[in-house]
Amino acid sequence: MMHAFLLSFSLAMAALQAPPADAAPALGFPVECVVGQSCLIQKLVDHDPGPGRRDYHCGLLTTNGHDGIDIRLRTMADMRTGFTVVAAAPGTVLRIRDGEADVSVAERTAPNGKDAGNAVVIDHGNDWQTQYSHLRQGSIGVRPGQPLATGDRIGLIGLSGNTEFPHLHFTVRYRGEAVDPFVGAGALPRCSADSRASGLWTPSAVPMLGYQPAAVITGGLSAAVPAKAVTERDPPPAPVSAQEPLILWVDAIGAREGDRQTFTIIGPKGQIVHEQQSVIADGGLSWFAYSGKRAPATGWPSGRYVGRYALRRGDAVVARIESNGLIK
Ligand SMILES: [Zn+2]
Repeated sequence: MMHAFLLSFSLAMAALQAPPADAAPALGFPVECVVGQSCLIQKLVDHDPGPGRRDYHCGLLTTNGHDGIDIRLRTMADMRTGFTVVAAAPGTVLRIRDGEADVSVAERTAPNGKDAGNAVVIDHGNDWQTQYSHLRQGSIGVRPGQPLATGDRIGLIGLSGNTEFPHLHFTVRYRGEAVDPFVGAGALPRCSADSRASGLWTPSAVPMLGYQPAAVITGGLSAAVPAKAVTERDPPPAPVSAQEPLILWVDAIGAREGDRQTFTIIGPKGQIVHEQQSVIADGGLSWFAYSGKRAPATGWPSGRYVGRYALRRGDAVVARIESNGLIK
């Protein structure tokens, strides 16, 4: 019986993986990073035709009219290290733009209209194209007319164009219209309980692309409230002195109204030196929060401190971080 079941299951899988009638390209993941580790998916395609927002999973990980997938790095330091953007499918380079500086849009005096920043467009034939935006200045290593295979390097994740954090905005188009790669052309999102929507992704990309309703981008223990601008938040200032405040901060994605967050700081002997819980009244796609305490009059006891942050939705922890700090 078990064998019969396995056989019919694998036949069903084969049917699902057959190429669709519109010859859509099978898409590999366009960045050499591991989602949930070295990079995060911050925004998906908006499926709400009105002023609202709704991602393919009927969640809120999008903004009104967002036509692509935002794959972000955690820190500016990661951007400087360099994360490679690759062709998602075989094709030919249609056009490129380079020369735009890696400057947060929040720091610009005036928008220059080049929202995509440094970008590459690849033609995959049969009216399918992919676009890779916000690339790092000077990183594009392909030229128009060049043939590419899946996984060929095209540039690095950057901060050019209309963006406040280092990320790749990845757009898939069919006949000029944006297509959600988690859904496919002409299909409707199913809001499926199965969080691994395959859409146009290759079978090897799918296991990494499970739907994550929330995530911690970065955070840690520090002696001061970190800068509000994302680009100025790293490296986090570490607590150095027993006389300074001890603050646990977090930069997260997908916090929602009604979520509960807990900040806990644990001292060298395992004792809780600070704890704060609150209910989030108004979350959003980006969530920056912190909680901490002044040093006691006698100073913090020296040793290793642990900061723990948890974001809860109902009974489930949807995002968390644990971070160490040392007070001498
Ligand atoms: Zn985007």
